[in-house]
Amino acid sequence: MNLVLFGPPGAGKGTQAKVLVEKRGLPQLSTGEMLRAAIAAGSPLGRQVESILAKGDLVSDQIVIEIIRERLKVADCVKGAVFDGFPRTVPQAEALDELLKGFGGKIDIVIELKVNDEILLERVKQRIEQGLSRPDDNPETLKNRLAVYHKNTAPLLVYYGKQGKVVTIDGMAPIAEVTKQIATTLDTKR
Ligand code: ADP
Repeated sequence: MNLVLFGPPGAGKGTQAKVLVEKRGLPQLSTGEMLRAAIAAGSPLGRQVESILAKGDLVSDQIVIEIIRERLKVADCVKGAVFDGFPRTVPQAEALDELLKGFGGKIDIVIELKVNDEILLERVKQRIEQGLSRPDDNPETLKNRLAVYHKNTAPLLVYYGKQGKVVTIDGMAPIAEVTKQIATTLDTKR
């Protein structure tokens, strides 16, 4: 099963993706994590994208599509994957559909974690206080990430909505409750 975890920055996609990796044996394909790894490694790609992530802007479609194209070739993706933070634009979603088609696959479900902007800002402030923040976790950058989300990424809900694939879950519920809702959704789909 190929599943997209969808939602604004800080919605809890990464947290829930990790649960799905453990419980369902699907790999997590997080473009954000892959880009941060490239930055940490100091690779040419990392150097190219570092300032873009720091500002909270989007890396070009071409770059992230290429990353995903390569990643999908790895054998652990044969049974599907959990896409986390990808796709983030309509061209990325179209490219992903094409790539999966090449493997005889498709996106089966899009799980939208719905969280209000005010709560996302609160969460980031907490992460900073707890010393758990990333370099792009500051109120200013988050505001830009949110604006980018509403402008470029939220339209994907229409794209996937037309295909009847979107299930919306309350991402403001406690983590365990969100996990349960996702599990129930996936189990009823099977
Ligand atoms: P968030 O917690 O904001 O959802 P991610 O870890 O998914 O963060 O991504 C962090 C940053 O990496 C984004 O703000 C963006 O700069 C870049 N990025 C990640 N995935 C993509 C993508 N699919 N397209 C463009 N840029 C991306």
